[in-house]
This record gives sequence, C-alpha cells and structure tokens, in this order.
Amino acid sequence: MRIILLGPPGAGKGTQAKAITERLAIPQISTGDILRAAVRDGTPMGVRAKVFMTSGELVPDEVVVGIVCERIQQPDCSSGFILDGFPRTVAQADALGKTLVQMAYPLQAVISLNVDEEVLVERLTGRRSCRSCGLGYHVKFNPSQRPNCCDACGSELYQRDDDREETIRHRLLVYREQTAPLIAYYSEQGLLFSLDGMEDISIVQENIVTILSGLR
Ligand code: ADP
Ligand code: ADP
Ligand code: ZN
Repeated sequence: MRIILLGPPGAGKGTQAKAITERLAIPQISTGDILRAAVRDGTPMGVRAKVFMTSGELVPDEVVVGIVCERIQQPDCSSGFILDGFPRTVAQADALGKTLVQMAYPLQAVISLNVDEEVLVERLTGRRSCRSCGLGYHVKFNPSQRPNCCDACGSELYQRDDDREETIRHRLLVYREQTAPLIAYYSEQGLLFSLDGMEDISIVQENIVTILSGLR
C-alpha cells in the first residue's frame, strides 16, 4: 500500500496516518515529525529548517525530497508507506514520482481531506501533541484522558509554537498557493480520492479504510 494523505494544516493527516499505520502495519512517513525531531536534536538539517518552520514557510524542496527519497528506500517500506505532509509542492511531487518510477513502485492513491478554513483554525489552535511519541490531541475535539498527559505513553503534551493564530493564517495561505495545486495534479493522474474531513475522526478513518480496501 503506497499512499499519500493530502490536505491543509489541521485537516487530520497526522491523526489518520497514525491510526492507519497501526491498522495496516505500514510505516507512516511524516516530514513534519522528522523535521521537528531534527530541530529538537539540533542536527545541521534541523538548524536549517527551524527558521522556515517557526515562520510557517515551507522548508526548501531539496531538504524534504532528500529525507523522503532516502526513507522510502529503507527495507521497512517494501510493504508500503503512508506519506503525511509530503509532497507539499509540485516540485516535491515530481521528485517523488521519479524516485517511485525508478523503484518500479507506483503510487496507489492520494487521499485528500477537505475541511473549511475556520474549522482548521479552531483545530490548530486547540491542537496538543505528545513530546515523546508525537500522538496528537485536541483540547475540545480529542482530549487526552488526563489533562496534559499522553494516553499512549504518559508523557507531557505541548502546544507547537507554529500553532499560534498568526502563523496558522500564514500556513493556510502557503497551503493555498503551493500545495493545493497538487489536488489537480493527482486528479489528472487518476489517483485522487476526496473525503469530507469534517466528519468525526472515527468516520474519516472508516472512509479511508474503505478506499484502501478497494485498491489492489
Ligand atoms: P494535520 O496533520 O493535517 O495538520 P492533525 O491530525 O494534527 O492535522 O489534526 C489537527 C487537530 O485537529 C488535532 O488537534 C486533532 O486532534 C484534531 N482533529 C483531527 N481530525 C479531526 C476530526 N475529524 N474532527 C475533529 N478534530 C480533529
Ligand atoms: P501541519 O500539517 O500542521 O501543517 P506539519 O507537521 O506537516 O504541519 O509541518 C510543519 C512544518 O514543517 C511546515 O509548516 C513546514 O515548515 C515544514 N514541513 C513539513 N513537511 C514539509 C514539506 N513536505 N515541505 C516543506 N516543508 C515541510
Ligand atoms: Zn505519547
């Protein structure tokens, strides 16, 4: 199963990718998670990426393309992968396409999650994430059982510093300008499946699983 979850910040890509990874036992590849780990560890890539991430800009294509093209060639991706947050530009999509052609490993589906902009802002301002396992929560829509404490691993929850309202507005603009063209791009390739991302988390998940069960 080789699939992409596409959608604006806050659409639910990370939430759904984590659930599917468990259900189907294929790795989730989240460029956001990989970049945040690099920032936390202070690697050269993290140092370079940090300024873009904090201001809500995209990290340069060559950085993220390098991460993903290396990652999908690891042995654990031989049974498939679920990409979350990549590609985000047409140049990234072209680079991914070329690598997959070289690997004789075509993409099977791009699932686009559609959510109204005001709902995205509400989701992102209330998003909390686990410091240690990265699981996502929402103060209102998907709260942890104990306040500020991850259900899965017990670690502390935190608010990402790019989830402030003015940065959120900028990220949504960047999405419209640079990422939304991928909807037409993948539709032309016959790979696009569109879903209503405003349904409950569990309903979106079932709808994704239904799409995936129809793939070869
Ligand atoms: P993305 O990875 O697309 O940026 P997330 O999966 O992190 O989005 O979700 C953003 C926020 O919205 C999180 O706080 C998450 O708990 C919440 N969320 C995700 N899906 C839904 C949904 N279907 N309904 C309500 N809240 C949701
Ligand atoms: P969200 O889904 O909420 O937008 P992510 O965790 O996917 O957040 O990404 C956080 C930030 O990491 C982005 O705003 C961007 O700066 C950077 N980033 C993640 N993935 C990419 C990518 N494919 N291309 C460029 N920048 C990226
Ligand atoms: Zn955790």
